[in-house]
Amino acid sequence: MKIVFATNNNNKLKEIKSIFKKMNLNSFSILSLKDLGLDNLYIEENEETIEGNAELKASIISDLSGLPSFADDTGLEIDALDGKPGVHSSRFAGEESNDAENRKLVLKLLENVPDDKRTARFKTVIAFVDKKQSYLFEGLCYGRIIKEERGNNGFGYDSIFIPDGFDITFAEMEPDLKNQISHRSIAFGKFVNFLS
Ligand code: IMP
Repeated sequence: MKIVFATNNNNKLKEIKSIFKKMNLNSFSILSLKDLGLDNLYIEENEETIEGNAELKASIISDLSGLPSFADDTGLEIDALDGKPGVHSSRFAGEESNDAENRKLVLKLLENVPDDKRTARFKTVIAFVDKKQSYLFEGLCYGRIIKEERGNNGFGYDSIFIPDGFDITFAEMEPDLKNQISHRSIAFGKFVNFLS
């Protein structure tokens, strides 16, 4: 059975393919947007929730391809900022902002927030759309925001986030370890269990 992963991110594609392999889901063949010639398609992620954006991408691609499709969307929710940046994580410091500017803004906004109030969580939602029916799978990873960046691995907010149970940031972890505990791998795991 062919299913489409609505992403242009090769790392995410590799991650999901390796989970499918581990779970022996050999009857599924995962197609990327590139495989469908849709890699230049621009979808404006303008929904107000992480769930909404994931569903939007999956349903557009399912309509265009005529195949069951899934998409993911992730946000960092910081308690002291009432859940921000949340759905706006990729453009927190402005429409054209990059990861470094977004991290800088978070650190600035939390400047006077004490250690015990710096709790946060990453949330990934995967939406799977099949014959107009949609299914959602959520992965949460709890932790805290530190006061200055640490580590060179990863991307996004990795260098300012320490997951619960650890004393190193996501950016100081080996990618394999991050992949075992991350919000995305939890959501992917639920989705793959559903398919199997
Ligand atoms: P996306 O939905 O995967 O594109 O993620 C939205 C934004 O959240 C990205 O621009 C990143 O800044 C951030 N983000 C997503 N996943 C991670 C992660 O695993 N670590 C750190 N930041 C992330």
